[in-house]
Amino acid sequence: MTSSRTRTDPIVVAGAGHVGLIAAIALAQTFDDIISIGVVPEATDKRTTALMMPAIKFLETIGLWKDIVPHAAPITTMRILDGTSRLIRSPAVTFAANEIDEPAFGYNIPNTTLTSVLSGALEHSGARHVAASATHYHATENAISVEASDGSMFTANIVIAADGRSSLAREAAGISARTWSYGQTAIVLSFSHTRDHHDISTEFHTEHGPFTQVPLPGRRSSLVWVTTPAHATELLELTHDQLALRVEERMQSMLGAVTIDVDPQSWPLSGLVPTSFARNRVFLAGESAHVFPPIGAQGLNLGVRDVETLLETLPNDGSDLGAQRAISTYNRKRSPDIIARTGAVDALNRSLLSDFLPVQMVRSGGLELLRAFSPLRGFVMREGLRPGSGFRFTRKHAAQEH
Ligand SMILES: Cc1cc2nc3c(=O)[nH]c(=O)nc-3n(C[C@H](O)[C@H](O)[C@H](O)COP(=O)(O)OP(=O)(O)OC[C@H]3O[C@@H](n4cnc5c(N)ncnc54)[C@H](O)[C@@H]3O)c2cc1C
Repeated sequence: MTSSRTRTDPIVVAGAGHVGLIAAIALAQTFDDIISIGVVPEATDKRTTALMMPAIKFLETIGLWKDIVPHAAPITTMRILDGTSRLIRSPAVTFAANEIDEPAFGYNIPNTTLTSVLSGALEHSGARHVAASATHYHATENAISVEASDGSMFTANIVIAADGRSSLAREAAGISARTWSYGQTAIVLSFSHTRDHHDISTEFHTEHGPFTQVPLPGRRSSLVWVTTPAHATELLELTHDQLALRVEERMQSMLGAVTIDVDPQSWPLSGLVPTSFARNRVFLAGESAHVFPPIGAQGLNLGVRDVETLLETLPNDGSDLGAQRAISTYNRKRSPDIIARTGAVDALNRSLLSDFLPVQMVRSGGLELLRAFSPLRGFVMREGLRPGSGFRFTRKHAAQEH
C-alpha cells in the first residue's frame, strides 16, 4: 500500500526548550499543522547563550531577532589566554571578526530572554501548543501516533524529537546513543564590572577547563567557569563578595572590580552522540542529537542548524515527510557537522586537562600556529561560524589567485 499522507497531516514537535520552540515556529511558517508538545521551562535558567551570526541570521529570517536584539550584546573579538601554571604555556591568540569581514562573530543572549521571546512567538505562530509531556509513541508504515500526559492523542506524519538529552522520542524510534561524563562542572553566573569589555570575550584555559567571560549589554558579562566538581561546590558556597574577588583575580582585573549580579548555578558536563539522526519517522534536533561541553559556543548553534536542515530536507509538495528519502537526506546532512563538532570540542577539552607533556606541546604549537598565521586563523574563524565556509573561502581565494 502506498502512503496517502500529505503535508497537512500534523508534525509533532516534542519538547519546548529552545530548539523545540524554534523548530515549531519555523516549521509553522511552511507546514499547515504543527503540534508543539512540551512545558515551557520556568525562567530559572541563569545561563546565557552565545549565538553565532549564521544562527542569528536564521532567527532574523523567521522574524524573532528584533525582539531579542535589545537584550543581546555583540561579540566582536575572542581571546584565548593561557591561565595554567604549566611548564609549557600557550601563546595568547586573538580572533577579530573584522579579519574575516564580519561586524561580529555573534551575540550573547540571556537564556531567559530566549525563552520568553520564543514562547511568546509560539503563541502567534499558528502551531498548536499542548503544555504536557509526550508519554508514548508508536510508528506504523504511514504514521506515528503520539500520546501526551494530559490524555490527548495525535496521529502525526513525523515527530521532531527536541525533547533533550534523555529523549523518549529517540528511544521510541529505536535510536541508541553513546553517553559519557567529563567529571567537570560548569559554574555559570553574570556580573557587572567597572571597566568596559569592548565587546570582547576572553577565554582562559586552565588545568580544569576553560573559564570564559562573554559580554552582555553595558558593563556586564556572563561567565562559564568549567572546573572540577569539588572546586565547583567550593565556589558555590562562597558569598557573592568572595566569589566576585575570585572572578576578578582569575581575570587579572582586566575588567576592573567585579560585582556578582546573577546567582551562580552549576551544570555537570557530559557528552552524547546517537547512532543515527533520523529513523522511523522521528528526526532528532538539539540535545537529543548532540551534547558536549560548553566550549566555543556550539550547542544551540548546532540545534539551529538541525532546524535549518529540517526545513531544507522535508518535502513541501504534499508527499510523505517521513519517507525514507527524507530520513536518509537528514542523516547524510547532519552527520558530518555533528560528529566533527562533538569530536573537536571533546579533543580540545581533553587536551586542556591532559598533564601529558606531548599533548600540551601539540596544543601549544597549534595555538602558536593560529597566532602567527592569519590565513589559518581566518579558516578556523569561518569554519567556527559555519561548517564548510572556511574550505569554500580558501578554494575561492586560491581560484582568484590563478
Ligand atoms: C553551561 C552551558 C553553557 C552553554 N552555552 C552555550 C552557548 O553559549 N552557545 C550555544 O550555542 N550553546 C550553549 N550551550 C548548549 C545549549 O544550552 C544547548 O544546546 C541547548 O539548551 C539545547 O536545547 P534543547 O532545546 O535541545 O534541549 P533542552 O533545553 O534540554 O530542552 C528539551 C526540553 O524537552 C522537554 N522534554 C523532555 N522530555 C519530554 C517529553 N517526553 N515530552 C515533551 N517535552 C519533553 C524538557 O523538559 C526540556 O524542556 C550551553 C550549555 C551549557 C550546559
